[in-house]
Amino acid sequence: MSKLLEVTNLFQRFDLTKGFFDKYKFKSWKIVREEKIVHAVNGVSFDINQGDVYGLVGESGSGKSTTARTIIRLLEPYSGRIMFDGKDITHLDENAMRPIRRNIQMIFQDPYASLNPRYKVIEIVMEPLLFHNKNLTTAEAETQALELLERVGIRPEQKDRYPHQFSGGQRQRIGIARALAVKPKLIIADEPVSALDVSIQAQILNLLMDLKDEFKLSFLLIAHDLSVVKHISDKIGVMYLGKIVEKASKNDLFSNPLHPYTKLLLSSVPTIDEDPLVEPLEIKGEIPSPINLPKGCYFHERCPFARDICELDTPGEREIEPKHYVSCHIYQ
Ligand code: SF4
Repeated sequence: MSKLLEVTNLFQRFDLTKGFFDKYKFKSWKIVREEKIVHAVNGVSFDINQGDVYGLVGESGSGKSTTARTIIRLLEPYSGRIMFDGKDITHLDENAMRPIRRNIQMIFQDPYASLNPRYKVIEIVMEPLLFHNKNLTTAEAETQALELLERVGIRPEQKDRYPHQFSGGQRQRIGIARALAVKPKLIIADEPVSALDVSIQAQILNLLMDLKDEFKLSFLLIAHDLSVVKHISDKIGVMYLGKIVEKASKNDLFSNPLHPYTKLLLSSVPTIDEDPLVEPLEIKGEIPSPINLPKGCYFHERCPFARDICELDTPGEREIEPKHYVSCHIYQ
């Protein structure tokens, strides 16, 4: 299967110190250089095959959304490489990125914030159609927009309503219709169901999977909850403090989780099994600040299995089983 997206050793940093007087401080009769750098993404590598769903999971603050925004080039990468559909897009300028962005669409956590409140829903879906197809007439765009809205479950008689007149689930459906309007190859869905009621979450995830086959889509699905990605992902990457600490096929990850953080995330998924797959683990503390990254393994301050070496040495990534990678000293 050919690769649609290849992300290699991606880094993203934000410098919070602005200007000379922020960077240099006078302390104890000396001029001292002080930098506040947010290390948001720290060497992320993964790839997505055509037609696959890649689930990226981790707590909030783990760098998932920043990774997504860097891939779509809303943020300029600090370093690394992003290949999309065989083309290196890492440093393309705005003009060169425009046709690429048509093929990579985003669905956001809060659909209300991403829909223009002054536009009727039909206009919201027509806008990208008209922007990307200069030969399309308004009537043709309206027909196509209506078909898309119907396909995602919005009835034709609702076309003239405004976003605030819809429920959260319906607004997410409108956001999906708008993303589909330009016939993308890849959809990046950033926490697409986390703001919705549990009963609605399954409906939206099922809709995305139906559309995947119908529109020949691939997905990067971002979630903080493993149960969201469990049923629909082909591969999963588990992120912690800007790094993917474990990546594997969905089946391997759920049947044989290796990294302590993955085990911890799995043990926090509610289960009705009497014999859960993994023993409950206790997690200590909070995710550390990406400004002051811990030395050694980023997870060592919270890891129940930490050894002396974990504080000193950053574990490299190893393939423990075929296509099952983990970064942890237990497996070095
Ligand atoms: Fe825990 Fe050490 Fe593995 Fe990090 S390297 S996850 S601290 S055992």
